[in-house]
Amino acid sequence: MFGFKHAAKPAKVCSHKKALPRWDRIENTGDMRQVAHWYCPDCDQFVEPPAEAELGDVA
Ligand SMILES: [Zn+2]
Repeated sequence: MFGFKHAAKPAKVCSHKKALPRWDRIENTGDMRQVAHWYCPDCDQFVEPPAEAELGDVA
């Protein structure tokens, strides 16, 4: 029967814990509320902000 496929390799799940913030503007560098992108070196791609990212001051 056709359709018998090799079992898909389990995708390596990356939680982007090493994601690094990137800023568009140099003057915003270091301001976690102004992060333009998050880059994960493990995935070598831009990712969603990590859930545990601390956004600094709580108003
Ligand atoms: Zn990642």
